Amino acid sequence: MTKAEGESPDSRIENPLLQQTGLPAFDRIEPKHVEPAMRSLLADLDGELTALEADLGSTWERTVAPLEAMGDRLARCWGAVGHLMGVRNDDALREAFEAVQPEVVTFALRQGQSRPIHDALRELIEGEEREKFSPAQVRILTTMLRDASDAGVGLEDEDRERFNAIAQELAQLATDFSNRVLDATEAGAVWLRDPAEMAGTPESLRELAAQAARDDTEPGATAAEGPWKIHLDRTCVMPLLQHAERREVREKVYRAYVGRAGSGEFDNRETIERILSLRHEQAQLLGYGSYAELSLDSKMAPDVESVSSLLEELRVASYGEAEGELETLAGFAANSGAQEAGDLALWDVAFWAERLREEKFAYSEEDLRSYFPLPRVLEGLFGLAERLFEVRIEAADGEAPVWHEDVRFFRVSDASGEPLAAFYLDPYARPGHKRGGAWMDECVSRSRRLALQAAEVRLPVAYLVCNQAPPVAELPSLMRFDDVQTLFHEFGHGLQHMLTRVDESLASGIRNIEWDAVELPSQFMENWCYQRETIHAISAHVETHEPLPDDVFEKLKAARTYRAGSDMLRQIYFASTDMELHKEAPATSGEDAFAIQGRVAERTTVMPPLPEDRFLCSFGHIFAGGYAAGYYSYKWAEVLAADAFGAFEEAGLDNPEEVARLGRRFSETVLALGGSCAPAEVFESFRGRAPSPEALLRQSGLVSTS
Ligand code: ZN
Repeated sequence: MTKAEGESPDSRIENPLLQQTGLPAFDRIEPKHVEPAMRSLLADLDGELTALEADLGSTWERTVAPLEAMGDRLARCWGAVGHLMGVRNDDALREAFEAVQPEVVTFALRQGQSRPIHDALRELIEGEEREKFSPAQVRILTTMLRDASDAGVGLEDEDRERFNAIAQELAQLATDFSNRVLDATEAGAVWLRDPAEMAGTPESLRELAAQAARDDTEPGATAAEGPWKIHLDRTCVMPLLQHAERREVREKVYRAYVGRAGSGEFDNRETIERILSLRHEQAQLLGYGSYAELSLDSKMAPDVESVSSLLEELRVASYGEAEGELETLAGFAANSGAQEAGDLALWDVAFWAERLREEKFAYSEEDLRSYFPLPRVLEGLFGLAERLFEVRIEAADGEAPVWHEDVRFFRVSDASGEPLAAFYLDPYARPGHKRGGAWMDECVSRSRRLALQAAEVRLPVAYLVCNQAPPVAELPSLMRFDDVQTLFHEFGHGLQHMLTRVDESLASGIRNIEWDAVELPSQFMENWCYQRETIHAISAHVETHEPLPDDVFEKLKAARTYRAGSDMLRQIYFASTDMELHKEAPATSGEDAFAIQGRVAERTTVMPPLPEDRFLCSFGHIFAGGYAAGYYSYKWAEVLAADAFGAFEEAGLDNPEEVARLGRRFSETVLALGGSCAPAEVFESFRGRAPSPEALLRQSGLVSTS
């Protein structure tokens, strides 16, 4: 066994990151453990890889199985580090992460580009052994060969060297990008000191912003008197833009938000250009015309044209609607006698949209929050999972070490009490230390081969991470209806990870699922927030304990299509910008990324962004996440999700037997099969036919034009 330099055998045993069984010891893992753990692990893995290359056989057990085991050890350790980078980020952890990241990339490249392994895999899929493989195994092999090819296994000498240098630089650039967004969120915070500037804003925002001020340099800050520190994350920015009556305050915050990480000390502009140009070069080395083609090689969408044509169909269906919505809003503002009438600016839209919503539907997002305390929402969500998928979810706090005191832990079992899975829930925003947005990630994957004992199955464990407002004063965390849908969304991903029945870890849960199909269960789950029985189960007024009144629920449903054209168009704008950025060689046209953004905006926005808009500089999905030339996936999968939910609508949502029957079928197909079959097949096995965008357009109140 190899030992890292300068490390005593004892420190290795004690290093909590190297623990090989059970759940990660988040209560003991510290940044100082990262470098020794990763060095020692990588040295081991490197040795194992060399040994494997020398002793490959023509069976699954002597090729894929050892690779699976090695990948699992790496995922276990590096996965925990990556998770902490997202939820407990600080300087020490960043330094440690960046110190070892190049070595991780080197190892991944070495394995991905191994010719002996590639040849052995090819022999396996072309040889006589193939007969014995399950369809899941055949799909795993096919993916491994494709990934090896896209990882440069076919490259020689200088090309390979260049490819690897690019991969290293890209990994570093993604980390830099993400760190700068975190820093800019904190450093760019807007301070408000005059109570008049906070006029109209909800109590919850004032409390949150006063808390942020207290945590900084103003220990005496109060919700009523200030000062207030508005972090540049959505949890603070959205309620401010929706409610602050002073137009100049909204303008100030809006400008800071869209300019985030776009200038000054934390500036991502050059990083973006560099990333785009390196991606293009990498794609060309592999023989693709563009990075978009490389990205689509591993997706459900067959090619760039089919993506463009779906986006165009949705654009045409939503553009006119969005124009109309803007006119209505301008008219409404004009009638209210506001100064900005007739000249609605970007920082006025959310404000007036919220006023119009209040008038039209007689509720405000803020009032609704009182009906959605987190504990009640969880109770209702778990009840729904039981109704649909026959699973039981129980709190198990204290049974797993956590990375922050607010994190919860739950166990999932089937109707007979047999354990199936577990998950962590980290619900609240921690600006500056926790990445914005919400996500599900895997902590442990389901596997038979990697179980501790023969005849057992290792059960999956998920991370669910959200960014809703924390509890303030004596109250529990009150959720915006948006937060509720986000929680349902991430829970849907979690279900696919946790309820998988595939025992091969390389295709269990969300693994080996094409990226543009992976948002199916998540977006499917969001639909339940609009179903009467569910809304009753997830709502209870924080003071009266009454569920959401039926008339408010009806308004909420009617409001679902409120500004649906604008919402749809906004997603099309993001998806098309992403696609355009990756479709051609950067700079050959003389356009930089922002010029491309501007060009796309001409067709996909009804109110052009500010010339100094730098939203790309914080667009982590495509520059630091996995969505490059893949942001369209949300829309692609939304078509599948809406169509799948359509099956429930057709059968009657108020018919419990039908709902249960379809729920089971959804569980047995979409949730169970994971990456073991092609997504089109999985969809058909649930729906009985190929997907159609009709349901999505109907659900959004938009009419198909095709
Ligand atoms: Zn998602």
